Amino acid sequence: MKALRFSLWSLAIVLFLTACAGAQARFSTPFTFIPGISANVDDGGVRDFRCGGRTYAGHCGTDFLVGRGTPTYAAASGYVNRTNSNCPEGYYCDQCGGGFGNYVRMYADIDGSWEYIVAHLSQVDLGVDDYSDCNTGPRLGLSGNSGCSTGPHCHFQVYHYYAGCQSDDPYAGDCAGPESFWVGQEYNQDISSNDCQ
Ligand SMILES: [Zn+2]
Repeated sequence: MKALRFSLWSLAIVLFLTACAGAQARFSTPFTFIPGISANVDDGGVRDFRCGGRTYAGHCGTDFLVGRGTPTYAAASGYVNRTNSNCPEGYYCDQCGGGFGNYVRMYADIDGSWEYIVAHLSQVDLGVDDYSDCNTGPRLGLSGNSGCSTGPHCHFQVYHYYAGCQSDDPYAGDCAGPESFWVGQEYNQDISSNDCQ
């Protein structure tokens, strides 16, 4: 009986841990391809997830190198939470849209505690509560150079509410968390797959 009780507890713990792991959001890039990256999240010491220098002080997202007008899609299926679409484009740091310029902020369709933003767009196509499937659409908008942006690129930022209202580095590495939020990222490596969860 004791052994049975022990194994039931073990089973309960395994099921609990599995449920927690199942809540992990996994993202694709917000494009149908994997672009180059100009800057990663600053770990607090001006280091990227590999403890290298591909970041700058206070940067909270991943900057994808995409030309203006690149079709931009959901990185994880879900609903639009917020948008902004009234910012001009320019090659300077404009605080329009809180510095994000034109953006789409999405709830990731996982457990309600994950959100992400795609920013500096030239055009926003969706409105609040619209649904978009990862990589297949409908399209969120087109990339651009609005807000605090000194050249066309896309700023992608993850928010995770388990630990309060904080942005979180989606990469796994020596200067980031142990778990990657990207589908296909190996520890300390760039994204190797653009599949959806
Ligand atoms: Zn950025």
